Amino acid sequence: MNCGYVAIAGKPNVGKSTLLNAMLGTKLSIVSPKPQTTRQRVLGIDNGAEHQIVFLDTPGLLAPKYAMQAKLLQIAETSIKEADLLLFLLDAVDGLKDEDEAFFKTYRRKRTIVVINKIDLVTKEVLLTQIARVHQVTGCDEIYPISALTGFAVDELRQGIIKQLPEGQPFYDPESLTDQPEQFFVSEIIREKIFESFGAEVPYSTAVVIDDFKEQEGRKDVIRATIWVEKPSQKAMVIGTGGRKLKAIGSMARRDIEKLIERPVYLELWVKVREKWRSKEGDLRELGL
Ligand code: GDP
Ligand code: MG
Repeated sequence: MNCGYVAIAGKPNVGKSTLLNAMLGTKLSIVSPKPQTTRQRVLGIDNGAEHQIVFLDTPGLLAPKYAMQAKLLQIAETSIKEADLLLFLLDAVDGLKDEDEAFFKTYRRKRTIVVINKIDLVTKEVLLTQIARVHQVTGCDEIYPISALTGFAVDELRQGIIKQLPEGQPFYDPESLTDQPEQFFVSEIIREKIFESFGAEVPYSTAVVIDDFKEQEGRKDVIRATIWVEKPSQKAMVIGTGGRKLKAIGSMARRDIEKLIERPVYLELWVKVREKWRSKEGDLRELGL
């Protein structure tokens, strides 16, 4: 069998999480039109008769401006170093920018595939120009144009990946899709609903912590979670008039959580303020980042 770790890396918003979900045919990683939605390493396993690809979705590569961004970059770097193969993602609309070139030089591995994503958004001429430039600048022969959103050429990319993986035994149970506990995905679902419900400020100031997750025989699971924000004004926004906003977030999240864990759930959400948690190392650790 061909088995190995594959890091999906690239600038924020190029479609890394969308690609992971497309590869697995299920929504494992949260996707949003806002950059930097993915904060932690998300591991997704693609099992086949003759392969096991362990994908690592990573936070976007970005020159860090504050403590949380530095932490995010470190998480991405660790995944890239662990991997047997690097998938370096670009966006077909933007092409290869100077910062991509810098990241490429820094992170390039012995085995690297450049993926040009979102080709559904550009003409063939633009795409051909992008490919030629990528080839010229990176010297990389493995270039795959795809659309993670429509699924176009995703299977060709999968075959290309498998060919590059070392022969060996699977690392994980061939039945499993991920190594993270349910709790992690539950907090990610809640975070996703916050991303969907607010503009730019609130989501980036939010961390979700699961305080309690109880499975109960013959009764609904009980999940208690805290939504941490940075300011009292943000707390007021998340709660909304008469608690309506929080209630809406809770019921959207509950529905997705029930789909994921296939059990009925009682979800209780609390909103609390912790000033400037994104800038403090200790707070980041406590909030599980
Ligand atoms: P990440 O930050 O790299 O993980 O990017 P996401 O996967 O969260 O995607 C960012 C945005 O790009 C989302 O709005 C996606 O729906 C969109 N997107 C991802 N892949 C494609 C694609 O192939 N075509 C188009 N048109 N949009 C895409
Ligand atoms: Mg992402």
